[in-house]
Amino acid sequence: MSKVRESSIEMGKEEFRRVGYKLIDDISNFIESIDEKPVTTNETPGELQNKILGNAPLPEEGKSVSELFSSTTDLLFQHSLLNGHPKFLGYITSSAAPIGALADLLAASVNPNVGAQILSPIATEIEKQTIRWLSEFIGVSPVYGGLLVSGGNMANFTAFLAARTAKSPKAIKEDGIQNSPNRLTVYCSKTTHTWIEKAVISFGLGTKSIRWIPTDDFNKMDNKALESTIELDLKNHFIPIMVVGTAGDVSTGAVDDLIGISAICKKFDLWFHIDGAYGAPAAVIPKYKPLFEGIREADSIALDPHKWLYAPLEAGCTLIKNPQHLLDTYSSHPEYYNFDRSGKEKTQNFYEYGLQNSRGFRALKVWLSLQQVGRSGYEKLIGEDIELSEMLFELAKKHPELEAVSQSLSITTFRYNPGSTEYSGNLNMLNENLLNELQTGGQVFLSNAIVNDKYCLRACIVNFRTSQSDIEEIIELVVKLGRKISLRISQT
Ligand SMILES: *Cc1c(COP(=O)(O)O)cnc(C)c1O
Repeated sequence: MSKVRESSIEMGKEEFRRVGYKLIDDISNFIESIDEKPVTTNETPGELQNKILGNAPLPEEGKSVSELFSSTTDLLFQHSLLNGHPKFLGYITSSAAPIGALADLLAASVNPNVGAQILSPIATEIEKQTIRWLSEFIGVSPVYGGLLVSGGNMANFTAFLAARTAKSPKAIKEDGIQNSPNRLTVYCSKTTHTWIEKAVISFGLGTKSIRWIPTDDFNKMDNKALESTIELDLKNHFIPIMVVGTAGDVSTGAVDDLIGISAICKKFDLWFHIDGAYGAPAAVIPKYKPLFEGIREADSIALDPHKWLYAPLEAGCTLIKNPQHLLDTYSSHPEYYNFDRSGKEKTQNFYEYGLQNSRGFRALKVWLSLQQVGRSGYEKLIGEDIELSEMLFELAKKHPELEAVSQSLSITTFRYNPGSTEYSGNLNMLNENLLNELQTGGQVFLSNAIVNDKYCLRACIVNFRTSQSDIEEIIELVVKLGRKISLRISQT
């Protein structure tokens, strides 16, 4: 080796500029024309493997960066599902704020390790401020603390284990849960997202520990049933530890009666967790303040900046009313860490607040977009998403061949229903076929929900590119395809 090291992985300034500028040009064009592309291309895994020579061996020799980027940008632009397309309204995946792409580039370039303050001096402060701003955004007290994680599932897991530590019999950290076999119980409604199952499996409670509380006609947890289930469990010597309330359920956007749940948690001394992965940001809208009132009572809250704050994947967030619970759960001090400076000011090492050790700087994209748009800007964006969802519901209601089924926050469910004279077949089957063809057609992307036994098309608008004309066109597309399919079914 010569004194000056030749690293094949290093990029000189000129090369970085050349490839970087070209990449930025290509991305700008991609974003500008995203509405002209199909939402998805409907290629098979086999076809896609061929595009990258799926069976090719690991490259022995290197290639030029500019060559790699010119082929890779094309690969991604031409063969991806574009959730930034104005007619992508599937699941709960938002369009990504362009500022987030630039933020990720900057974050990766500096590459702070936000596991320890000493390794990420300014990045740690930025994450702390992001957490404070997110608390303010959803209207909870600034005493809440927490951290950013990869998404809603991780945000819920992080809170779940803190709840287990806080509310289980003493010394669960040392003894594990062997000393309370099949005894710890958790409560959530039937609409709760599937993370809860992964959580009880991962953290040793097992799926039988979940008490699935029934919901009312509006998909909200039945709080009377919640209370009586807890009472029965106590009588049978179970150990209830926590209740999960949902603020915006994934199927229909329902928000549980959070105040009511909080009162029940207080009565039985249980941890109150709110899964607001999707819905919590709607608390920024004054009209919805009463609906989210109880959020301030939560011991912990999960929310997802990569959903309704439009951050690019991945960004989730756990907020805890008393952040000491996170330290009690996750903090340890191995001898190979020298992270505690005995200065006057306390350092904050995020590795002590959650499951991750080395941590990327995902806070940056959230921090920057909160400043780019501001609270009032987000109020407008989120409010418009809700208005578009209401508009979709109204148009479906007015249309003689559509049936509007539910509307809450920015989720609308509806189905094609031509009426009994023209079509007497099974509406669930008809709508399932309709959804499948819509999803592969590339003009619009919706997902599905079963609401009161009806198979529905479901549109969730967390997309700052969707406009009124997109909504009108979606109605036309659904009706046109619905007619075609019902005709096809009735002829066979
Ligand atoms: C999306 C969602 C989750 C899961 O979040 P990910 O970011 O996909 O991990 C959990 N709960 C609710 C209510 C959600 O909307």
